[in-house]
Amino acid sequence: MDPEVIVQGAWRHAEPAFYVVATPLGNLADLSPRARAVLAGVECIAAEDTRHSQRLLDAWGIRTPMLPAHEHNEQAAARAIVARLARGEHVALISDAGTPGICDPGARIVAAVRAAGFAVVPVPGPSAVIAALSVAGFVEPGFRFIGFLPPKQAARRKLLASLATEEVPVVCYEAPHRIRDSVADMLEVLGGTRELFLARELTKRFEETARLPLAQAPAWLEERAERTRGEFVLILGPGEAQAAREETGRQVLARLTQAGVPFGEAVRLAAELTGASKNRLYAQGLAEGRENED
Ligand code: SAM
Repeated sequence: MDPEVIVQGAWRHAEPAFYVVATPLGNLADLSPRARAVLAGVECIAAEDTRHSQRLLDAWGIRTPMLPAHEHNEQAAARAIVARLARGEHVALISDAGTPGICDPGARIVAAVRAAGFAVVPVPGPSAVIAALSVAGFVEPGFRFIGFLPPKQAARRKLLASLATEEVPVVCYEAPHRIRDSVADMLEVLGGTRELFLARELTKRFEETARLPLAQAPAWLEERAERTRGEFVLILGPGEAQAAREETGRQVLARLTQAGVPFGEAVRLAAELTGASKNRLYAQGLAEGRENED
């Protein structure tokens, strides 16, 4: 297909529509061509912070007018947007960074636009939760996303305690001024062997990621002053129950391959018998050279 058609024409629905557009987390070049076409082509952009988003629009030469749509005016913004759609306009929604509605305003507006009977169209792109997961290397087939950790310590510790036996990685957002306290609570509540992945300033100049046991996390944060600044995604590795299964799975795999069971079959059996992750067993088995044992 002609890329010009994809980029310039195909985004516009026949009927007035509301486009939920993901914008960059930091690197302005992460705005997709389709997102650019939508933002340049709609009659109006609803933005969480119009001054903040002006920088993005200026960078791409987009002159579309904006209206504010933040957490304190969501209902009024929804009414204004529905009125515009009723007049036949196409409208886009953006937040300060990433995907609207994901720990950002937008969900109530989307619900109101849907209730009014208009099409809501995703224009997907960056989201910090997915960007962090994509480079963390957790092999479990799923994950749990819990948004921001509770700011108050008692509620935070209670929530963390409930994650002790969580079998999939748990992703959360954290504000820079609470990162030390939250990591300290994680260590205290979940213990030093639980893994933590920290992703800081993703897509920005000082982007940094680290995956380490919780016992080492406070020292990592203190290693350089800027480490406790900037934006963070935290991912807790799976909890004890799964870790124990993984360890048993590794031992069973070792015994099976030593006994001459072909590697692929041994991985399948070890996963089935122990509940360990097949992908993880496969990767670890390869790393340990077990495929040559059969
Ligand atoms: N809607 C956004 C999304 O799709 O990712 C999230 C908005 S939420 C208000 C902001 C939080 O996302 C930050 O506090 C941080 O936890 C995370 N975040 C946003 N940009 C980030 C970045 N460049 N690096 C790491 N975390 C980021």
